Amino acid sequence: LGGSISRAIQQMSNATIIDEKVLNECLNEITRALLQSDVQFKLVRDMQTNIKKIVNLEDLAAGHNKRKIIQQAIFNELCKMLDPGKPSFTPKKGKTSVVMFVGLQGSGKTTTCTKYAYYHQKKGWKPALVCADTFRAGAFDQLKQNATKAKIPFYGSYMESDPVKIAMEGVERFKKENCDLIIVDTSGRHKQEAALFEEMRQVSEATKPDLVVFVMDSSIGQAAFDQAHAFKQSVAVGAVIVTKMDGHAKGGGALSAVAATKSPVIFIGTGEHMDEFEVFDVKPFVSRLLGMGDWSGFMDKIHEVVPMDQQPELLQKLSEGNFTLRIMYEQFQNILKMGPIGQVFSMLPGFSSELMPKELDSSNPKLMNESRMMRIARGSGRHIREVMEMMEEYKRLAKIWSKMKGLKIPKKGEMSAL
Ligand code: GDP
Ligand code: MG
Repeated sequence: LGGSISRAIQQMSNATIIDEKVLNECLNEITRALLQSDVQFKLVRDMQTNIKKIVNLEDLAAGHNKRKIIQQAIFNELCKMLDPGKPSFTPKKGKTSVVMFVGLQGSGKTTTCTKYAYYHQKKGWKPALVCADTFRAGAFDQLKQNATKAKIPFYGSYMESDPVKIAMEGVERFKKENCDLIIVDTSGRHKQEAALFEEMRQVSEATKPDLVVFVMDSSIGQAAFDQAHAFKQSVAVGAVIVTKMDGHAKGGGALSAVAATKSPVIFIGTGEHMDEFEVFDVKPFVSRLLGMGDWSGFMDKIHEVVPMDQQPELLQKLSEGNFTLRIMYEQFQNILKMGPIGQVFSMLPGFSSELMPKELDSSNPKLMNESRMMRIARGSGRHIREVMEMMEEYKRLAKIWSKMKGLKIPKKGEMSAL
């Protein structure tokens, strides 16, 4: 008895130290992830300081899952850092708004202007595009091509070299035509330079935009803060759009852009196509920053439904980027439990005997051509459409899983906090 009491007392006196150790370990781990995700060093340090203030070590000592409490606090803190405290100006349908896009060349302005216009057009708006980039040869052609494809009215010139003049003319014209969203695309030049910022100031003064959007490439890394800050000093940036989120970059620069412009992120670009554009959602973005992909929930489910002894093998296969039909087949019972993936999965056992090993073990969906699908449909007594649906579902899942490649596989418990 005496032994156990003294042990308990010892544990109690050690508790704070142990918790501080857990806290520091957690913070170090997450600091590494954030720096890798291009979050500015200063912001990471601020976050650490705040967390140490927020997380009460005594509460931790009493709590059961310390890592969970700490991770949740960090997650919340990062979400807060992405919230500048006030929403950006939101254009109203049917009422004329001018939105000016700024950002360095190559950041994705022209592409994003079209996406933004297209997004609103689909919702019944009357958008229009104005090309005020007279700096880069081919800029007008690019905008014209995009606009034509999306059937959006556009304005620009091959001859005029004054961006201010074109911007003004374009905005005037579309105001007369009762467009409710007039989008001004601007030049980005090659680098930050005085002439660019002066040009932005003049275009802004001439067109009096209701909103200036700073477009940022997710891969610019630590440069994000200075870049965003420089634009904010010349024009009244009121919102941020982060592009190329489909690439490898995690987009930690967005935190810098928010801090430097005191404006929220409103959309993200997730591909080159017009509809690869999403309303910004803080939580999945922060999960991704922390190196957890958009997965947090999904991984939890895997831990829940895949039998323990199969988990390491499955995750290993997935992290190697080999999501094959066989994996889908083997795991389909588990996957089925994950939610409404569709009736079509229940047909997999029927398919499996018709699928040949080469087809089952390939992670190349192209292998499954129409004649093969026909054969499988006939053999399993299913309609070809159902086989195609299954392949579509497979491709969709494979695309998701492909992002797993090279990712650090979180251990059970690490994810559940998020
Ligand atoms: P700008 O110079 O700022 O106008 O940039 P552009 O709109 O011309 O885009 C530069 C390049 O980035 C083009 O090749 C675009 O197709 C590409 N791009 C833009 N946004 C995205 C995105 O969200 N994802 C991907 N993968 N590429 C993008
Ligand atoms: Mg451009």
